[in-house]
Amino acid sequence: MATDTAQVVRGRFAPSPTGPLHFGSLVAALASALEAQARGGEWLVRIEDLDPPREVAGASDEILYALGRFGFSWPEPVLYQSQRTAAYEAAQLRLRDLGLAFWCGCSRREVGKGGHGRYPGTCREGLPPGRRPRALRARVPDREILVEDQVQGPVSENLAAVSGDFIVRRADRLCAYQLAVVVDDSAQQITDVVRGADLLDSTPRQCWLQQELGFLPFRYAHVPVVTTAQGEKLAKGSGATALDPSRAGEWLARGLAFLGQSPPADLAGRPLPSIWDWARSNWSLERVPRERAIPWSP
Ligand SMILES: [Zn+2]
Repeated sequence: MATDTAQVVRGRFAPSPTGPLHFGSLVAALASALEAQARGGEWLVRIEDLDPPREVAGASDEILYALGRFGFSWPEPVLYQSQRTAAYEAAQLRLRDLGLAFWCGCSRREVGKGGHGRYPGTCREGLPPGRRPRALRARVPDREILVEDQVQGPVSENLAAVSGDFIVRRADRLCAYQLAVVVDDSAQQITDVVRGADLLDSTPRQCWLQQELGFLPFRYAHVPVVTTAQGEKLAKGSGATALDPSRAGEWLARGLAFLGQSPPADLAGRPLPSIWDWARSNWSLERVPRERAIPWSP
């Protein structure tokens, strides 16, 4: 399409401040930055501090500081989800106006599986008598939503059959992640969502929200998630350690190798600007392994 060539590519890295930058988050940062910058675009950072109880004090600053030491740079101020309540509430109101959201009075126990089961539709046609509204749910359609992922291929889901009417505003009044991420990507004018493949399954839900809210579509690329030898996603809880920025070159080269980019053996020893030059001019999304997860040991 002719409009595609005129569009500025904008990517983003959106960590949750639950711990320091580790190898798994470095891989996601690297893939998203290179996909945007190799195409002459911009790369932004968003801190997904939506869930204050899960947050670790100082983690946002630690992540941003580490990114800087690794040679990442972003041309616009960091967006913090904790400051976006008004935008989320506007999107929730819009969904209600469109008839695409309804109040649910069910407890997590009633929905089953701690609130993670498929919603049985109890409050879909109105709150049962005597019930208070607790959470706001999206009224999902009974049709397949298809996403063409640039790495993982086509992903399709019938939202009604698989996710059911999912929560967009939680009982604790916080915006649900699925909605926040779509609202923020649109506000930051993101064109290319490049992130870990653990988020692939929620992409049809986000894609549907994006369409219904009238936002421009995003291109998606889900890169393999770094796991432990036991197959657990690398995270603070699974023993992921903070990366030492004084070994930035080595870690960047390992990240590039993980992403299938085959860096030359001497790359790790070069100065950071030269590593980034190589990475930007050699980046190829086609070489990223088409797997959802890859075990890795330090
Ligand atoms: Zn309900």
